[in-house]
Amino acid sequence: MRRPLIAGNWKMYKTPSEAEKFAQELKSIDIYKERDILVCVPFPAILSVSRVLSGTSILVGAQNMYPAKEGAYTGEVSPLMIKDSGASFVICGHSERRQIFKETDDFIAEKVKAALDYEITPILCVGETLQENEAGETFSVIERQLRTGLKFLSGNTIEKIVIAYEPVWAIGTGKNATPQQAQDVHRFIRKLIEQNYGQSASCIRILYGGSVKPENIDILMAEADIDGALVGGASLKIESFSRIVGFQRI
Ligand code: PEP
Repeated sequence: MRRPLIAGNWKMYKTPSEAEKFAQELKSIDIYKERDILVCVPFPAILSVSRVLSGTSILVGAQNMYPAKEGAYTGEVSPLMIKDSGASFVICGHSERRQIFKETDDFIAEKVKAALDYEITPILCVGETLQENEAGETFSVIERQLRTGLKFLSGNTIEKIVIAYEPVWAIGTGKNATPQQAQDVHRFIRKLIEQNYGQSASCIRILYGGSVKPENIDILMAEADIDGALVGGASLKIESFSRIVGFQRI
């Protein structure tokens, strides 16, 4: 019922020419047909990567945007701009943006809304820090991030979003949540959305992110409420990404 989604997050890696070369290599991957594959690339590479991947089933997304159509926001990039460049997804509230750029739940909620206003699929990232995890606050933190992050959404629009559970202590650290730990949080997220939006929650895709690699993707994907992955480091190399998204290169 829920089509799995594997999303790469290239973060601030790859110049436009490196990104274009990598996109050419992606075209040679024999992708698992039952999965959607997405690459969220740096702003300057969205256009060229979209052009290279047009006509393939690989989707292109952005890693951020500013929640306004246009205006005097020096240095920012609008939903319209990313969409016109070829992005159909956007990551909202990645923990690096929350921590380094001090993005708040309220600001992230505006981004989720703006993405939907422009028919871009937002991937809302939630997740607890190590300190919060150790203090037993995982579920309360996630509940707060979700309640605020989704506050502008109605029952009709909720189906259009993707959620990524990314425990901050697992991002780029090599440590990952066990499949059971991740499943427990994913189940909690789905239940919470069900309580607020009804049965629509059953079709929302909830991705796991945090040191996903070829060695652990299958065991994570085997869990009932894990519908895919948001992959950072391992999405940067064709060898590891091709093994995560499906099969070996043709
Ligand atoms: C991420 O960037 O969202 C991420 C999960 O990174 P990594 O896979 O490197 O932990």
